[in-house]
Amino acid sequence: MAVKAQRQLMSGNEAIARGAYEAGVTFASGYPGTPSTEILENIVQYKEHIYCEWSPNEKVAFEAAAAAAWAGARAIVTMKHVGLNVAADPLMTLSYIGVEGGFVVCVADDPGMHSSQNEQDSRHYARFAKVPLLEPSDSSEAKEFLIRAMEISEKYKTPVILRTNTRVSHSYGIVEIAERKKNPKKIAFEKNPPRFVTVPLYARQMRNKMEQRSKELFEEANKNELNKIEWRDKSLGIITGSISYQYAREVWPDASVLKLGFSYPFPDKLIKEFAAGVKKVLVVEELDDIIEEHTRSLGINCIGREFIPGIGELSISTLQKSRAKMEGRQIPAEKPLKYAEQLPARPPVLCPGCPHRGVFFALAKHDVIVMGDIGCYSLGTFKPLSRLDSILCMGAGISMAHGLDKAGEKKKVVGIVGDSTFFHSGITGLLDIAYNKGKSTIIVVDNRTTAMTGHQDHPGTGRTLMGEKTKAISIEAIGKACGIERVVTIDPYDTEKTQKVIDEELNADEPSLIVSYAPCPLKERKRVGEIRWINEELCKNCKMCLKLGCPAIDGSGEKPVINKLMCSGCGLCEQICPFDAISPVEKGQL
Ligand code: SF4
Ligand code: SF4
Repeated sequence: MAVKAQRQLMSGNEAIARGAYEAGVTFASGYPGTPSTEILENIVQYKEHIYCEWSPNEKVAFEAAAAAAWAGARAIVTMKHVGLNVAADPLMTLSYIGVEGGFVVCVADDPGMHSSQNEQDSRHYARFAKVPLLEPSDSSEAKEFLIRAMEISEKYKTPVILRTNTRVSHSYGIVEIAERKKNPKKIAFEKNPPRFVTVPLYARQMRNKMEQRSKELFEEANKNELNKIEWRDKSLGIITGSISYQYAREVWPDASVLKLGFSYPFPDKLIKEFAAGVKKVLVVEELDDIIEEHTRSLGINCIGREFIPGIGELSISTLQKSRAKMEGRQIPAEKPLKYAEQLPARPPVLCPGCPHRGVFFALAKHDVIVMGDIGCYSLGTFKPLSRLDSILCMGAGISMAHGLDKAGEKKKVVGIVGDSTFFHSGITGLLDIAYNKGKSTIIVVDNRTTAMTGHQDHPGTGRTLMGEKTKAISIEAIGKACGIERVVTIDPYDTEKTQKVIDEELNADEPSLIVSYAPCPLKERKRVGEIRWINEELCKNCKMCLKLGCPAIDGSGEKPVINKLMCSGCGLCEQICPFDAISPVEKGQL
């Protein structure tokens, strides 16, 4: 695909995808997770050149891409920060073995937890695994750094981490478009056990080589132009990187800056040179004080954490407060946003017509403990459903239900996971239950998509990321193969049968798997059924329908009413109304 030099407006994630294309990448894998998802979604447009896939989880995605790089391909793997925990096992050892073709781990952090269960700082992984870390601060750099990461990876035969965060991944900026580079390597895995087999005999040798590589990378970081000093007023020198660089430039426009783009290994010589040239050193970094601690370890007196918050996202206004505090000025009071008080509250709720609602509603009739998981169904935590008692991480709904049960919890324990989460890391938990004679009830709320991150495909959907039809793996068959004998499928829109099955399975003295099967209506882009309305004359105002927590049912007036524009026609409210006051809207009523 020949392109003339041109400029395009791109998000950071689009730019990384473009960078992968231009760098000559031919293999890309990942697991969806905000804020990283759009990297692979954008790589699909280059599918003539790049094989790409959603893997069942980040570890699998990492290993598949690493093997491609061993064969000489240029490969990337994408994930969010918590996904890197899942892929940490192969990362640690791949750092020993190294790669042949370039291999870049694209990880996106979520400071402020817009869509995550924690806000861990992935920069730690670079030091932990002894691999280089590159951190772009805008879309243009996101593309450029991906290409540079690929070059560094091939030069030093090491995996490289390209770390972004929500603002870099999702903000838009101008990106220069260039031609695709060709990977000169022939794709072929060359057998060489001392190179690829980590039995202790060889692994010890690799460990020593890795140390030598670290020394070379240390020199590289000191001379690499991704780390640069911008001399301005020398009374204050700021060491920063990633999105914090943009904020710092706005708030301290006159200060000198050491911008770290190649941020691990730390460029010690450059840090010392910079510190020696300014009167005071301030470190501005989001989340953990990694650069600050290291700067201090070099014997440099610096300030940072006492003024820069370490929790949540930084922003221009946060740093303006930091600056005021540093300068002993009164911190300006924040002006309330115009009209903010008039905006209606929008509590997080399941969508109208969401199939998970039927399961939570049926569960609400039982005094059980429900171990939840990561996905849309986490919204079942909130009132009025209030039917989720825990969330730890992907797949934990199943294994923790088992642990609680085995610990001697008197109440029946239920584990709830989604379909994508089940394939991601739920299966081994189910094996644990069957193998170790557990008796929890596991419900897979199978809405036929990875809904929370924007409807990506997974092994159960029968479709690949590249748009090809494929085998749709059966959750029920996996359940049986794992040794669970009670496996039952329900239609969550059928309240009576759903209730009956849940009652039966909760009373069973053995483990069971319930698959609640109904596609996400948002993915299907159609209503589940006919729009409902409430006949005011029949309505006795018992408020039973409000217990569903459907945002289409408005309970703010004297009696509940259904917002016909929002109603998805799932029929749950009609089934639970004890006075037959709810029915489909007849033609002409709309
Ligand atoms: S459940 Fe039926 S009767 Fe009760 S408030 Fe809702 S519509 Fe009215
Ligand atoms: S049918 Fe009832 S429960 Fe279903 S979306 Fe419409 S109002 Fe909500």
